[in-house]
Amino acid sequence: MTISKNLLKYSRVVLKLSGESLTNVNNFSNIDSSALFFLSKEIKKIIDLNVELCIVIGAGNLFRGRQLQKIGINRVVADHIGMLSTIINGLAINNFISQMDIKTSLMSSIPLNGICEIYNWNHAINLLSKKTVVIFSAGIGNPFFTTDSAACLRAIEIKADIVLKGTQVDGVYTSDPKKNIDAVLYSQLSYQEVLEKELKVMDLSAFILARDYNIPIRVFNINKTGALKRIVKGVDEGTLIN
Ligand code: UDP
Repeated sequence: MTISKNLLKYSRVVLKLSGESLTNVNNFSNIDSSALFFLSKEIKKIIDLNVELCIVIGAGNLFRGRQLQKIGINRVVADHIGMLSTIINGLAINNFISQMDIKTSLMSSIPLNGICEIYNWNHAINLLSKKTVVIFSAGIGNPFFTTDSAACLRAIEIKADIVLKGTQVDGVYTSDPKKNIDAVLYSQLSYQEVLEKELKVMDLSAFILARDYNIPIRVFNINKTGALKRIVKGVDEGTLIN
């Protein structure tokens, strides 16, 4: 059953998924079928509500440029490897979502003929109106950036209502909740507060882009069943930065 868009708080969203969200720490797999299945089910819940969804996929589960640089690979080449890794993740998530009877399109900022479409702003917007989930891979296509920047940039381009950053914790805390049991979760922050308190929301260039173009960001726990659906319906889940 589908519901009308006017019952939604957000009807066009960019979901940023880190590479980590595709993994399973218990069986040491970089790309895990149960993680992909869980994400696909969460995504189906909001597609059934008629939400227009773009996904920006990361690659921390495979390769990050910064880490490869540490083992002696030239940074530009290292970032190329990182970007290509996001396409690998994109292929995996694209395939799982399409198995849920959802139309999908995998776009890449780096042309890869026969494997995915090349990123095209106009085409992406057209696909969204046809209930197709558009997955953006290869970041913005340039080294020295991250997929957080891609999420904010694409959100501005396609005029999304919000960037939803799915993480492994419940939102933005006063300090790292994995290291400090006294860490307190913020429910709302301004862009300025994030900068003043030096809170880790996303990398700085991505964050400044969101701030300058007034794109709200919601950081939430992607592993919580139903969280994505609650957010698009307007429930206060995680931390809102606006
Ligand atoms: N990357 C890049 N340009 C971009 C996006 C990503 O060079 O526009 C590279 C960079 O090396 C990065 C890697 O791809 O470390 C994977 O992206 P990211 O670190 O954002 O993945 P996540 O942490 O979200 O899993």
